[in-house]
Order: sequence, then structure tokens, then C-alpha cells
Amino acid sequence: DLHPITRALLSVSDKTGLIDLGRALSARGVELLSTGGSAKALRDAGLGVRDVADVTGFPEMMDGRVKTLHPAVHGGLLALRDNDAHLAAMKEHGIGVIDLLVVNLYPFETTVASGAGYDDCIENIDIGGPAMIRAAAKNHAFVNVVVDAQDYDALLAELDANDGATGLAFRQTLAQTAYARTAAYDAAVSTWMAGALGNTAPRRKAVAGTLAQTLRYGENPHQAATFYLDGSGRPGVATATQHQGKELSYNNINDTDAAFELVSEFTPADGPAVAIIKHANPCGVAVGATLAQAYQKAFQCDQTSAFGGIIALNGELDAETAEAITGIFTEVVIAPSATDAAKEIFAAKKNLRLLTTGALADPLAVAQTIRQVSGGYLMQDKDNGRVAACDLRIVTKVKPTDAQMADLLFAWKVAKHVKSNAIVYVKDGATVGVGAGQMSRIDSALIAAKKAARMADALGLPEPLTKGSAVASDAFFPFADGLLEAAAAGASCVIQPGGSMRDDEVIAAADEAGLAMVFTGMRHFRH
Ligand code: 5GP
Repeated sequence: DLHPITRALLSVSDKTGLIDLGRALSARGVELLSTGGSAKALRDAGLGVRDVADVTGFPEMMDGRVKTLHPAVHGGLLALRDNDAHLAAMKEHGIGVIDLLVVNLYPFETTVASGAGYDDCIENIDIGGPAMIRAAAKNHAFVNVVVDAQDYDALLAELDANDGATGLAFRQTLAQTAYARTAAYDAAVSTWMAGALGNTAPRRKAVAGTLAQTLRYGENPHQAATFYLDGSGRPGVATATQHQGKELSYNNINDTDAAFELVSEFTPADGPAVAIIKHANPCGVAVGATLAQAYQKAFQCDQTSAFGGIIALNGELDAETAEAITGIFTEVVIAPSATDAAKEIFAAKKNLRLLTTGALADPLAVAQTIRQVSGGYLMQDKDNGRVAACDLRIVTKVKPTDAQMADLLFAWKVAKHVKSNAIVYVKDGATVGVGAGQMSRIDSALIAAKKAARMADALGLPEPLTKGSAVASDAFFPFADGLLEAAAAGASCVIQPGGSMRDDEVIAAADEAGLAMVFTGMRHFRH
């Protein structure tokens, strides 16, 4: 899959590095083609270069709107080098191959940022550039496309490593980068136009994806909203089958996603698991001998909050569990599958939505999350971090028992899915107190303990379920106070990342309170 570069077309608005690249290519025997301004810059530097106008037989015209839009260019980019008919067409029409395309586009984004007027912005929408980039990227089996001056060095290094040729993997990476560029470019045009038209709720937002649903509204009724599929086809709320009930809302989709992602942390090997979610935070998670039992245990964590919640199951919804779930009002139930008997039970509940996904989500999948900030986007890898028992470091004199260890790991899995600051108490495979989203860790510990005490009252228990529980903290305890609060609530063992400047203090406090504590070395902030 090594292909040599014999002929290159250089057409760049940003001339940074152009001369050096042209010189390096010439020195390697590559013939250079170029458009007006780029050709002039290369020629001024003393390099031999052929004008595209000479190749097409047409002058650049209409203020540069039409320069390279010609079969002599696009044929040279798109022809399959191993296809006799393509080669014959090239010969018949006198089209030469173009093995390397170097293009950077009219500076649309910086033109908009400079406050330019409407017509000026329109004139800075590059047409021929994206057309060539897309053509060259499509034909990456043979053609190299470079859209960023930062990649010039990598191109030359690849040529040097392969005797003037490039490998398929290299060209594939270039093509992927190229499509990212043209996608971002058109997104910038669409976003600018929406603004220029005073259109605050564009009919189609420029995001990569397929419009799945125009939602009734967003988080609040005065916010317009849409739902897009990213094309990954991953099991989850976006690709699930809805069996009954009205359309999901923006908040439903968000919460259902949180529920399904959380329950998917529990594989069938972990046993039947249920997660109940409210406002994207779990208010009950449990494993049990059956799904119905897991549901009851999860429900017991916070019966008040579970009302109107969203429930995710890690196995097939059966009749017994369906029956139990219908005991209170629930918005959505999501599971890999559901039995006919379970579906029949739900059919009586018109407002309850049932979704099946076919499979669990893969918590270890590599993916990206995107969040908007004013004037920009934040992009990061999805949190697919996971710790196993062998990753844990026991830091206290007391060591956790096997049962405690199981609860600690359970609590840790749940804490990953709780908004920070997260404190999660777990007993016998069920959450018994969840403190979420507080600005101080100590408050999260207190709130979770308070909820547990209230549940004990409601259930008529002699003591809160946090007594003898395992507690997880999504990030380290900066001071001993949060840990002591958990101990006061009855926690007997602790899991947390460790790594605080005051770890010594925290460990000493744990030892004094007779707690077992393990460090994960990994944190799970979720903001
Ligand atoms: P130059 O400075 O070489 O005259 O122009 C380079 C720019 O023209 C590049 O940004 C390239 O993307 C763009 N370009 C190349 N061909 C065409 C075309 O046919 N139409 C338009 N509008 N732009 C083109």
C-alpha cells in the first residue's frame, strides 16, 4: 500500500511553511501545481511551479470563485489508480494524477471573528478548497491530503521513511483529519448564518450527527432542543426501541442515559442490578438474587426520591420486576430486553415508557464527551476508568473483609456516576445513602447520612442502614472531617482515591476510628 508522490497541488490561503514545503517536495522530484497566490509565492522563492490555469485550460475567474473546479483537477484527485476504466478516462482526456493535495481554506472563521460584514463573510466561504479536500480524502487509497501547515513535517518524515512514498495508514489519518476540517468549516458557516439571520433556534444545528428528534423543549419549556444520533450505533437511550408511552423529553433522555450507563457497570456476572435515577443522579442502586429483589433493595435507599424516577436494569425485564416497578409512578424503564409478560403488565400504565436496547453499554468504550462553554467547547475522553480489587492499596491497620471489599467496589462504581462531590454509602450490595452535587464533601457525607436516617425512620428500622456500611468518596478527602462524618454515620470501611497533602492525617483519623480504608489512585469527578 505504499504509493509514491509524483505530482502535488498546493493551494493555500495561509502561506505559512509553504515555501519550505515546496522546496522539500521539489528536492524529492515532485512536480508542483498551484493556484494564483500560492503559485506566485513559490515562484518568487525561485521554485519551478505550474499554474492550475495552465492544466485546466481555464483562467481563474469570478474573483477566484472558480479556480480548481475542473475535471483536470478533480479527475486527477479521484481516479482510482488500479482501475483500467479510470486510467483510460484519464488518458482520453489528458488528465494527470495528483498524488498530494495541500490546501488550507479561505479564512472564514477569522473573517467572522474580525467583525466583517455579511458580504465579506460570504466571499470568504471557500468552495473549491473543500471540494478538492473531500475528493482527495475519499481517494486516500492513493492520494495524500494535508489541510494543516502543522502536518507538513510529518508528511516529509513519512516520505523520507518510505523512499518518497506514503503508507495507507498515514493517508487514512490524513483523510480523517481532512473530513474533520471540512465538517468544522461548514459548521462554522452554518453557525455564523444562524446568528446573522437572528435565528436563535436554528432549524438544524450544525453538529456532527443525524437529527433523531426535534424535542418539545429543552431542560426548560422556553428552551428549544433537538436530539442527534452520533452514528456509533452504541446500545443506549439514543438507539433503544421504545415500546410504549409518549415521546421522551430532553430531561428524560439525559436521565435515562445516566441510568443505563450506570447499570451497565454491572455485567451479568455481577448479578442482576438495578439503578434508579433522578436528575441524572442515582437515588438507589442495588444488586440482588433476582432483578425484582435488586429493585426492592434499590428502591429502599430513597423511596421519596424514587417517585417519578428512571429505572435501568442490567438484564431482561421480567413480570415480577415489572409488577414491582408499577407500585409507584416511574417515568422510564430501560433494559436490554423485556419479556412479553412484563410488556403486558406495563401496557396498563399508559404514561410509563419502556425502552429496550438489545445489549448493555460498554463502560470501557473509548468515546468523547462534549460540553459547551461561552464561546467554545470542551471535549474530553469519556470517563472509562475502572479499578479492580488488585488496584487497591490498603492504607489502614484494619483490613477490609471480603464482604466489605465487595461493597467498597460496588460503592466506587456508583460514585463514578454521581455528581461531585459524591459520597456513597453501600451495605450488602445496595446503596443506603447517596450524597450528590454538593460544593463541600462534608455536606455530601452529611446529606447522604441524613437521607439514610430518614429512610430508617420510614421503614421502622432500629438504626440507619449506614451502620456498618462501606463508603466511597469520588475524590480524596482533603481533611479528616469528611471521613469523620462518614464514620459518625456508621461507615466501617472507606474507598477513596487518596493523594491529598493530608493523607497522613486522614489515615490516622481512619485508624483511630477503627476503619478499614483503601486507596484507588484514580478519581471520578463528574461535574
Ligand atoms: P491562492 O492564494 O493560491 O490564489 O488561493 C488559495 C485558496 O484558494 C485556498 O484557500 C483554496 O482552498 C482556494 N481555492 C482553490 N480552488 C478554489 C476554487 O475553485 N474556488 C474557490 N472559491 N476557492 C478555491
